[in-house]
Amino acid sequence: MNSILINLYFFVMVKELNLYENDLLCNSFTYFASLMSMSFIPRTHLLQLSPKGLYCPIGDFYIDPSRAVDRAVITHAHGDHVKAGMKHYLTHQDSSPIIKLRIGTTANIQGLAYGETLNINGVNLSFHPAGHIIGSSQVRLEYKGEIWVVSGDYKIEDDGVCTAFESVKCHTFITESTFGLPIYKWAPQAEVFNEVNAWWQQNRERGLTSIILSYALGKAQRILHHLDPGIGEIFVHGSIKETNDAFRNAGIMVKDFPVVLSGKSKDHYRGAIIVAPPNWANANWLKKFQPYATASASGWMATRGSKQKMPADKGFTLSDHADWEGLNKAVKDSKAERVLVTHGYTKVFSKWLNELGLEAYELHHFGSNIFDSNTQIAEHSNLGGEAE
Ligand SMILES: [Zn+2]
Ligand SMILES: [Zn+2]
Repeated sequence: MNSILINLYFFVMVKELNLYENDLLCNSFTYFASLMSMSFIPRTHLLQLSPKGLYCPIGDFYIDPSRAVDRAVITHAHGDHVKAGMKHYLTHQDSSPIIKLRIGTTANIQGLAYGETLNINGVNLSFHPAGHIIGSSQVRLEYKGEIWVVSGDYKIEDDGVCTAFESVKCHTFITESTFGLPIYKWAPQAEVFNEVNAWWQQNRERGLTSIILSYALGKAQRILHHLDPGIGEIFVHGSIKETNDAFRNAGIMVKDFPVVLSGKSKDHYRGAIIVAPPNWANANWLKKFQPYATASASGWMATRGSKQKMPADKGFTLSDHADWEGLNKAVKDSKAERVLVTHGYTKVFSKWLNELGLEAYELHHFGSNIFDSNTQIAEHSNLGGEAE
């Protein structure tokens, strides 16, 4: 009905303005008007930006809200996506133990399996693997045949630890773009871990302790999974042990490693590798392991400037986010008619998608006549994010 009305409006407008000279031209204008009308059909806005984050007005819930709300849907347990103070958390069941660990056991958390559907005020919600860290999910929303997918953080390559990314078809795809520049191109992880293990082996031969800096949730489990135990002993910092134990206690299989103890002599760790969060890499803590070599593992290591800023001797380019090619693949495979870009290089990536002929916007600009254009959601910062 709308399409007929808009078509008619175009036709009348064309006629009024005397824009056509003959029937042929008139027909082409009618055709043009009919094409235009297709994109004028109002679509249900399943999500909109609000000062508290992405909001679904029909379902009355928020996705990864930045401030306290009644109903929070959480894509994954990284600190920039899950905050304390929500009345109710809905998340993938494997994210629950970490949310409890970080926010407290009294948090009201409901966990779903991948693919399980929950109807919230008529909106069918389900979680689908995002391949970013254990429990990480894309959120699929369906209402009267209209489908929106929120990617959360994701990567395409199967890391061998969390459930691999699964493409979900939708009308509107909200994608992250943390590494949304063509310069970001990841090597296959087997290559990166060969380098990591070779670095450790060399350090061991030189009588050094290897210390690899990695965030406690996600990157740590990935590194630990791929370190070669044939080289030597593997230790973890207490915060990584705590995270691993929370997973293991919930029945999620992650390998167990001994915690590094401060009372031990330096010789105890010589030739071993220690996985520790970057915020522990201060001189005081490190000197307990002298002589040692340090390394950092992050997607930001792909650029020389970031490499120079890092607080480590060596940098490995290893990210839990999609690279440029991965982002493009996810968008293409989603078959979305409209793409909204958030986190990171939103401007470059949305413009690139426009050049490919896709309807794409930066999320914080999308529908600024409807939504509050001053609202922006927190962007991942260079080297500052938890998961990169
Ligand atoms: Zn994030
Ligand atoms: Zn994350």
